[in-house]
Amino acid sequence: MSQNMFVLAEIRHGALRHVSFEAIAAAKKLTTSGKVTAVLLGEKVERFTELLFQYGADRVIIAEHPDLDAYRPEAYKQALLQIIEEERPDGFLFAHTSQGRDLAPRIAASLKSGLISDVVKLELVDDRVVFTRPIYSGKAFEEKIIEEGMIMATIRPNNIQAAESDPSRSGEIKTVYPDIKDFHTTIKDIVEKTTSGVDLTEANIVVAGGRGVKSKDGFHPLQELADVLGAAVGASRGACDADYCDYSLQIGQTGKVVTPDLYIACGISGAIQHVAGMSNSKVIVAINKDPEAPIFSIADYGIVGDLFEVLPVLTEECRKVVT
Ligand code: FAD
Repeated sequence: MSQNMFVLAEIRHGALRHVSFEAIAAAKKLTTSGKVTAVLLGEKVERFTELLFQYGADRVIIAEHPDLDAYRPEAYKQALLQIIEEERPDGFLFAHTSQGRDLAPRIAASLKSGLISDVVKLELVDDRVVFTRPIYSGKAFEEKIIEEGMIMATIRPNNIQAAESDPSRSGEIKTVYPDIKDFHTTIKDIVEKTTSGVDLTEANIVVAGGRGVKSKDGFHPLQELADVLGAAVGASRGACDADYCDYSLQIGQTGKVVTPDLYIACGISGAIQHVAGMSNSKVIVAINKDPEAPIFSIADYGIVGDLFEVLPVLTEECRKVVT
C-alpha cells in the first residue's frame, strides 16, 4: 500500500478526459491515506481543478508554463520529473492514451522505475497491488505486482469505474512553475481527424464499419446511427486500407483499443487483428450478410443481413427510444 498516489490529469480539446477520473478512482484503491494528488500541466488550467476535486482528487498540483499548452514530450517530461523530485510520490498513474503511452515510459526510464501498461483492473491482494493487463491481443490476461520502487501504470480508458461526481468536494491547490529548456518539438498545427465529436477510445458506444461499407459514402448510415446514439464511429483496417475512412478510426491490433459498453460492427468480418482492439467491449452487435463471418462467434447479438438495409431501420428504432 502507498501513502502518496499521483495521477496525471489529461486535457484534450479543452476538456479533461474522463479516463483521468478513472485513474483517480484507481489511485484511491492504492493509498492507505485515501488521498490522491492530480497533476495538471498547461497554461491557465486552474479552471479544471474543481472537476478533479469532484471526482475524488484531494490535492491538485498545477504546473504552469506556456510550453505546456499542448503536449510536447520533452517539456511534459521535464515538468513532471521536477514535480516527482520535489514531491516524491509512491506511485504515478497515467491514462493509456496516445499521450500517456508516450509520456509514461519516458518518465519511468528517467527514474529507472518499472511501468505496467494498459491496466484494466487493479486490486489489493494480501496488501499488495495486483495489476491486470491483457496480453496476446486480448486473448489472455496477466497479473503483475510491483515489488519495490515507485508504482507506475497506464490505465486503459473505460475499464475502471470513476467515482460519482460530488460537487461539494474541494481540496488543496498548489501551483508550480517548472523550469523548461532545451526541447526540440515545435507544434505548427493540430489537425483533428474524428468524424464525430465523440472520442473513439473513450466512447461508451462505437459504431464501426468494415470493407462491407463499400465506399466513403457507405459510412453515412453508420454516422447517422452514431449521431442518434451519441456514439463514435470506428473502422476496421480493411475499410481504412480501401480509403473509405481515415486511419485515425482504425480499431485493432495496430489501431486503437476500445472498450465501450456497446460495439456495433457493420460489415466487418472479425479478423483476429480487428478483434484484438474491441473484444473487451461489454456488448457486441454484429451486422454481416455472411452467416459464417467470424465476428458472429464473439458477438452477443448477430444480425445476418445487408447493413444498408439493417442500419436505417435500426437508426429509426433507436431514434424513437432515444428522443
Ligand atoms: P473483410 O475481411 O473483407 O470483411 C468484410 C465483411 O463485410 C465480410 O464479412 C462481408 O461478409 C461483409 N459484408 C460485405 N458487404 C456487406 C453488406 N452489404 N452488409 C453486411 N455485411 C457485408 N485489421 C483491423 O481491423 N485492425 C487492425 O488493427 C489490424 N491490424 C493488422 C495487423 C497485421 C500485422 C495484419 C497482417 C493485419 C491487420 N489487420 C487489422 C487486417 C485484418 O487481418 C483484416 O484484413 C481486416 O480486419 C479485414 O477488414 P474487414 O473485416 O473490414 O474486411
